[in-house]
Amino acid sequence: MNKRFVLLLLLALALAAWVHFDLGDWLTLEALKSQQSAIDGYFRANPLLVAGLFFLVYVVLTALSVPGAAILTLAAGAIFGLYWGTLIVSVASTIGATFAFLASRYLFRDAVQARFGDRLRRVNEGIARDGAFYLFSLRLVPVFPFFAVNLLMGLTPIRTFTYFWVSQLGMFLGTIIYVNAGTQLARIDALSDIASPGLLASFAALGLLPWIGKWIMATIKRRRVYARFNRPRRFDRNLVVIGAGAAGLVSSYIAATVKAKVTLVEASKMGGDCLNYGCVPSKALIKSARIAEQMRHADRYGLVSASPQIRFRSVMKRIHDIIAAIEPHDSVERYTELGVDVVQGYARIVDPWTVEIARNDGKIQRLTTRAIVIAAGAEPVVPDLPGLADSGYLTSDTLWEEFAARDTMPQRIIILGGGPIGSELSQAFARLGADVSQVERGARLLPREDEEVSELARDALEGAGVEVLTGHEALRVEGTESDRHLIVRHAGGERAIAFDALIVAVGRKARLSGYGLEDLVIETQRTVVTDEYLATVYPNIYAAGDVAGPYQFTHSAAHQAWYASVNALFGQFRRFKADYRVIPWTTFIDPEVARVGLSEAEAIEKGVAVEVTRYPLHELDRAIADSATTGFVKVLTPPGKDRILGVTIVGEHAGELLAEYVLAMKHGLGLGKILGTIHTYPTMAEANKYAAGEWKRAHAPERLLKLVGRYHDWRRG
Ligand SMILES: Cc1cc2nc3c(=O)[nH]c(=O)nc-3n(C[C@H](O)[C@H](O)[C@H](O)COP(=O)(O)OP(=O)(O)OC[C@H]3O[C@@H](n4cnc5c(N)ncnc54)[C@H](O)[C@@H]3O)c2cc1C
Repeated sequence: MNKRFVLLLLLALALAAWVHFDLGDWLTLEALKSQQSAIDGYFRANPLLVAGLFFLVYVVLTALSVPGAAILTLAAGAIFGLYWGTLIVSVASTIGATFAFLASRYLFRDAVQARFGDRLRRVNEGIARDGAFYLFSLRLVPVFPFFAVNLLMGLTPIRTFTYFWVSQLGMFLGTIIYVNAGTQLARIDALSDIASPGLLASFAALGLLPWIGKWIMATIKRRRVYARFNRPRRFDRNLVVIGAGAAGLVSSYIAATVKAKVTLVEASKMGGDCLNYGCVPSKALIKSARIAEQMRHADRYGLVSASPQIRFRSVMKRIHDIIAAIEPHDSVERYTELGVDVVQGYARIVDPWTVEIARNDGKIQRLTTRAIVIAAGAEPVVPDLPGLADSGYLTSDTLWEEFAARDTMPQRIIILGGGPIGSELSQAFARLGADVSQVERGARLLPREDEEVSELARDALEGAGVEVLTGHEALRVEGTESDRHLIVRHAGGERAIAFDALIVAVGRKARLSGYGLEDLVIETQRTVVTDEYLATVYPNIYAAGDVAGPYQFTHSAAHQAWYASVNALFGQFRRFKADYRVIPWTTFIDPEVARVGLSEAEAIEKGVAVEVTRYPLHELDRAIADSATTGFVKVLTPPGKDRILGVTIVGEHAGELLAEYVLAMKHGLGLGKILGTIHTYPTMAEANKYAAGEWKRAHAPERLLKLVGRYHDWRRG
C-alpha cells in the first residue's frame, strides 16, 4: 500500500480517536485545576516519569496538530515551575512542530507545488531568500495558530534544520511567558488570588507578547535593511520630498506647517502632471469643447444653432493661460513663503539618509535627512508597436506644447486607449471638430465602471462624432510623414486608419528608475512597494501619489501625502495606516461619470450581497429644465440597511453631486440621513435625495402602513 496513504490513515485514526474519546476535555483550564493536586502528587513521587510522559504527550499533540498546546504549556508551568517547564515545553513543542511540518511536507508538498507551482513561485523565492526571517516573525508574533504555521511551512521549500532551530528560537519568548503564567495559575486558590500582582503581571505579559514580538521584529528588520549603510550623526533636514506634484506639494506643506525643516526637490515643473499635463489642461480643453457643442446644438434651447469657428491657437492659448493662472498656487515662491526649502533639480537617493540633487543651476547638493518622501509620480505608458517610435505620436506629456504651436487642429486624430484620459480627450477633440477614432483593445470603454456606464459613455462619445473602436488591437504604424496609418486588428481582419495626430493614452506607469531605488534595493512592482503606512522597506523612506498607487488621482495623491509625511515625521510615536475606504473619482466626459466605493460589478465579483437603488435623471425637475436628463444615480447598500457601500452617478455635474455621498460614506451617514436633509429646489443635487427616497420607498413598513390606513378609515367613520 502507498506509504503516504498509510501515514494519512494513521493520522486520521489518531484524530478520530481524539475526537471519539473526548480527549480535548482533559485540556481545559478547569480540568487542569481539578487534577492539579493529584498531578503534583505523582510528580513528587516520580518526577522523571511524569516529566517524560508530559514531554511525550506534548510532542504527540503538537505533531497531530490538535488544539491544546496552550493549556499544556500553562500546565507545564503549574507542574514543573518556570525553568524546567520552559525547558520541557520549548524542546517538546519544537520537536512536535517539526513532526507536523515533516508530515505536511511528506503528504502534501509535492501535490501543492505541482498544482500551484507557478503561482507559488514568488512565495518559494521569498522563502529561499528570507524563509528563516518570515518563520521567526510568525513564531514571535503569533498571529497565525501554531499548527497552521507548522502545516503551511511544510509546503514551502524551507530546510528542516532551519525550520527546527528558528522555531526553537522564535517560540522561546512566548514559551517563557506562557509557562510563567502557568506557575501563577497554580497559585489560584481563591477568587481574590486572581488579583495577585504576580498573576496580573503574567497575564499582562501574555497580552503584551504580540507587541513585544512586533517591536523585536521591527528592530531586527531595521538592523537588517540599514546594516550596509553608515547613519549620519546629524541631519541637515527632517524631511526631503522628491517631486512637486500633488503628493510632494502636500507632503512638504504639512512638514513645514509642523515646523519641520523640509526640502522639496522638483526636476521639472512645479505642480507636476496635474497642473502642467493632466487635470488642468484637459479640463480647460473640455470646457472649450463643451461650449462648441452647445453652440452647435443651441436649437435645443430655442436659439439659432451656429457652427463654431474653432480658433485652435486661441483654444490652446486659453489652456496655457489657465495653467499660468493656477501656477502661483504651486509655485516656488508660495512654497518658500510657507517655509519649504524648494530646490529645482533632479534628486537621487544615495543612501537611506542622503539625497543628492543635481541642481538646475549645475551645482550638486547633498542633503542628509531623517526621512524621505518619494513623490515622483507617473508617466505615460507607450506600447511597443512597430513604427510607433517614428510616428511622431503624442502623449499627455507632449500634447499640450505640440498643439499650442499649431494654428489649426489636426483633422484626423486617433486616440489610443479607452480609459478615462482617452475618453475625455476623444470627446473633447471631436466636439472641437476633429475626426476622432478611439481605439481600445478591450470590449468596452471605462472598463473599471459597470457595463451600463460603459454603454452610456460609448453613446456619449459616438454622439459627439467619435468613432469608437472597441475590440480593436493596435498592431503597427505604417506610411510616410504625410500619409500615416495605424493598423488595427479586429475580428480576425486588419484595417488601416489614417491619422494626422496619434495620441497614446493607454495608461500611466509609476516612475521607478534613475533616482536610486535600484541601488537601495527598494522593492518595486508596478509601483514602489510600501506597507500600509506607506513606508518602503526602509522605515524612514515613504512613497505617496502615483508612484505608490494603487490610485492615480490628484486627490488620492494628496490624501496619501498626509499619511506619508505624518508617519515620516512622527512615526516613532504613532503611525497611521493609509485609509482607502472612501476614494472618489470622476471621468469628465459629458455626461460625467462619478464613482465612490463599490460598483455593482465589483460587488458581484467580491461576493458582497448588495441592494441596488437607482434614480434616473429624466425624472428630476432641474435635469428636465436643463435638458440634461441622461444619466442616473445608483446607490449600493447592504440588503435591508441604508449604509452606503458604493455610488455611481452618471450625469451633468456628476462629480459635484458625488461629494454628498463621499461625505456620507466617510462619516457613516446612511441614506436616511440624506433623505432627511433639505436640498435646494430645483438643483441637480436633489437627485441624491430622491435616490435615498427610492430606497426608503422600497423599505416602507407595509404592515404598519396598512394599519395606519385602517385607522384613517375608522376616523372617517
Ligand atoms: C491627461 C490627464 C488628465 C488627468 N485628469 C485628472 C483628473 O481630472 N483628476 C485627477 O484627480 N487626476 C487626474 N489625472 C491624474 C493626476 O494628474 C495624477 O494622479 C497626479 O498628478 C499625481 O500626482 P503625483 O504628485 O503623484 O505625481 P506628479 O504630479 O506626476 O508629480 C511628480 C513630480 O515628480 C517629479 N520628479 C520625478 N522624479 C524626480 C526626481 N528624481 N527628482 C526631482 N523631481 C522628480 C516630476 O517632474 C513630477 O513633477 C490626470 C492625468 C492626466 C495625464
